[in-house]
Formats: sequence, structure tokens, C-alpha cells
Amino acid sequence: MGQTLFIGGTWKPAASGADFATIDPATGEPHARCADAGRADADDAVAAARSALTDPAWAGLAPAERARILWRVGDLIDEHAEELAQLETLDQGQPIGVSRTVSVRGAAEHFRYYAGWVTKLYGETAPVSFPNVLQYTRREPVGVCALITPWNFPLLIASWKLAPALACGNTVIVKPAEQTPMTTIRLVQLCQEAGVPAGVVNLLTGGPEAGRALVEHPDVDKVSFTGSTETGRGIVRAAAGNLKRVSLELGGKAPSIVLPDADLDAAVAGCLQGSLLNSGQVCAAYTRFLVHHSIADEFAERCARAAHQMRLGPGGAPETELGPLVTSDHLAHVEALVRSGVEEGATLVTGGTRDKDLPGYFFRPTVFTGVRDDMRIAREEIFGPVLSVLSYEDEAEAVARANDTAYGLAAAVWTRDVAAAHRVAGALRAGTVFINMPNPVDASAPWGGYGASGWGREMGSGAIDLYSEIKSVWTSLV
Ligand code: NAD
Repeated sequence: MGQTLFIGGTWKPAASGADFATIDPATGEPHARCADAGRADADDAVAAARSALTDPAWAGLAPAERARILWRVGDLIDEHAEELAQLETLDQGQPIGVSRTVSVRGAAEHFRYYAGWVTKLYGETAPVSFPNVLQYTRREPVGVCALITPWNFPLLIASWKLAPALACGNTVIVKPAEQTPMTTIRLVQLCQEAGVPAGVVNLLTGGPEAGRALVEHPDVDKVSFTGSTETGRGIVRAAAGNLKRVSLELGGKAPSIVLPDADLDAAVAGCLQGSLLNSGQVCAAYTRFLVHHSIADEFAERCARAAHQMRLGPGGAPETELGPLVTSDHLAHVEALVRSGVEEGATLVTGGTRDKDLPGYFFRPTVFTGVRDDMRIAREEIFGPVLSVLSYEDEAEAVARANDTAYGLAAAVWTRDVAAAHRVAGALRAGTVFINMPNPVDASAPWGGYGASGWGREMGSGAIDLYSEIKSVWTSLV
């Protein structure tokens, strides 16, 4: 039985004794067992985090000491980089190159970036209009934070939350997705090794039940959630009891607008990269290609040719360009949406099927043309290797159709015209707009969405705002 709960500095099984298997998506075979946390475990973890919040071992640490601990976590991630990358690929399926560069390097950089913030959490003095009064602000931790993460970039997204939460002096309970808990378990071990005091970082492996127990818990001060929009809506409702702080990074349906003067080679290469990274299991994945009618056929044909040639395989094989989807359920979800595209009249140019030569959850990269805005494949998040090409007549129409979505996480525009690039970037309703490039993230650049893509901004100074409360202190000087 997996002893994968970490509560108050002790590794333990679930109080109920329940556990679950985690599966290698490249083979469909289980490779580890983890404790399946329930409400009693959530209660214990919240109590441990509450007690650690005011423990001098954490609350009394000088900022420079807290910074050193975060920096050390980053260094330990680097020291264990290859082991973490292999584990991420085994558990999640992503090609090993993606694990090494995007996931592991990104996680280490997040800890170092927020280590730098710890000694720069300044307050302000306001020029209040009262005589003989000094006013200043302090940044204080929000308190006990529940960090709930999805399965697409488990180590990276846990780091997006854990690093700034610790930088601001909070205590946390991390709840990784049940499909991919392994690298988060390892990350928590590395936090322990780096000197994070007992009770500051707690871990609950398990499914929605453990997440729900944290979200509803009256002694949790904040929930930071990354996952689907549907789950996000439920979290907002469930968090209302004590009006806990909620930040949400949810789904997306990123448009990518190709203007007629775009460098077509760069646009095709960048659009493929931006849509097929991690087999399209990326919240910011480009999925709706709005291409000017004069170049739409050529764009679609080039995308389809390149997609058709991509090598599918287990993430651990060095020649693999596209790994498996994360679970058989998710594979079925992608398949059903692709079927709906065909039934609603889109033209399937390439892909559209499972790869039956491989044992795991592989889906061929898929390109549709003749896609209408009202089709399910144009409106719903697919989270798989499926591209839809839609053609438009003029820029205003392209922008209006790009914005005709409940989501607003990311968008792209491809053009050689600087004025057009910034005009379109300004008009798109999305938290991030990429001009002539795919869609990376960086610890220093704000990340988050408009509308149904969520609340708040992670990364940069945005995450500091999410994980701190501002207290205003007034002092009479007479
Ligand atoms: P999901 O919503 O099913 O699950 C996410 C996490 O929430 C898991 O840990 C799960 O156990 C937990 N959970 C499920 N139900 C819960 C409940 N009622 N209360 C509390 N916790 C609960 O999402 P997923 O399928 O794991 O992830 C894919 C989704 O994540 C996609 O929609 C994707 O767009 C989104 N995502 C967004 C970003 C971003 O930055 N905006 C990044 C990555 C993924």
C-alpha cells in the first residue's frame, strides 16, 4: 500500500487504507500505487498546516533563510533532473525532451525566481491626508493554502503554485491529479530535504474527494486550482462557506490568426509546435487556426503533411515527437470530439484515429478543414492533437470570430506587419497573446485567463498578489 500522504512531516497511508494505481499511458500498465486520501486525511493535513503557520520554525524564519530554502529546492530539482524527467515521462507520457526542458527546468526556475522575491516583499507608505499620522502596508501570508493541480504538467504546475506560496510564508496542502501524482510526491520529498519545516508542505494523493474536502474545509484560507472549467465552477460554489480566496487557471480554446502577409513557413512550424506540444494536452494549445482565405488551403495542406509525418511513440524513446494521451478515458473523449467533427460536416484531412500499432493511449495528429464556428470541435476544449482550420475574409472578422468563445487564456497572431500585430494583440480577449511564436511560459511573465479561463494571474508579481494579504497599518505620531 502506498505511503504517499505527507502530513505534519510524516509519510503515511490513507486513514481508510484505500489506495489506487497510477498507469503508464504508453503501455496502459500500472506502475505504482498511491494512498487515496479522504476527508479524515484532509482534516489532518489542514490541522498540520494550520499549526505550522505560526510555528516559529517557519513563521520565525528570516526572509533570507526562507529564500535560501526555496533556492535549495531549485538546486535539488536540478540535481535530480534526469530522475524527475524519467518519472514525469513514465507517469504522464510526455516525450522525455519535453520533461527535461519544459517540466523539470521550468520547475527549478520557478523556485529560484520566487526565492528572489522573498527578500523583496516590500510594503508601501501612502500620503494619507491626516496630520501626524504614519501609514504603511505589510504583506502577510494568506494562511493555509490548498494547491490542486491537473495531470498535463504535474511537476511544473505544482511548482507554479508551491514556489510563490512558500515565498509569501504560507503553509500548504498539495493535491496532485490522481492520474499523475508521482513527480509531486518526489517534489515534496525534495522540499523536506531542502529544510522546509514539518507541516509547512503537506501532500494528499487521491482523487476529487480529497480535493473537495480541501475546498469545503472551513480552516483553509485559499484554494489555488488549475484544471477544467467545469471543476473550477464547482470549486467557486464550494469555497463560498468561509469565503476563502480562490484563484483559477482553467481551460482554453486558443485562436491563432494567420494574416495574409505572414511568413508561412514560420506560421506552419509555430502553429504545429503551439498545438501539438504534449500531444495537445496544453491549456494554451492553439486549436482554432483562423487563416486568411488566400492562404488557407496551402496552410492546411502543409500542416497536414507535417502532422502526418510526426513520429508517435513512448515518451522515453528519443525519436518520439508525440507521446500518448494521459488515460484511456481522455483518449475516448478526444475520439468522441473528432467523431462529432466528422458528423457535423468538417473535412478530415489527416489523422482522426487511434494508433493501433502502439499499446498505450495514442491518437494520430489530426487536421480538419472546412470547420464552422458552431461545430463542437471549434467551441469545446479538446485537449488533444486536433487542429481545426477556418478561413476568413478580413482582419475584423478574424478578431471577432477569435473572440467568440467563453474562454480567453491565450491567442496568437502571425504577420510581418508590426502595426497589424499590435492592433490584433490589443483586440484579442486573452490573458496572453503570442506574436509570431509558439506559446511558452516563463516564471517572470503573468499567466492566466479572461472569462471562463479563470481568475487571477500566476507567475511574475501576480502570484505574489495571489498568495499574500495586504495589511494597512496606521500610527498616530502625537
Ligand atoms: P480536472 O478539473 O478534472 O482535475 C484537476 C484537479 O482537480 C485534479 O487534481 C482533481 O482530482 C481535482 N478535482 C476534481 N474534482 C474536484 C472537485 N470537485 N473539487 C476539488 N478538486 C477536484 O482537470 P484535469 O482533467 O486534470 O486537467 C485538464 C484541464 O486543466 C483542462 O481543462 C486544461 O485546460 C486545464 N489546465 C489549465 C491550465 C491553465 O494554466 N489555465 C494549465 C493546465 C491545465
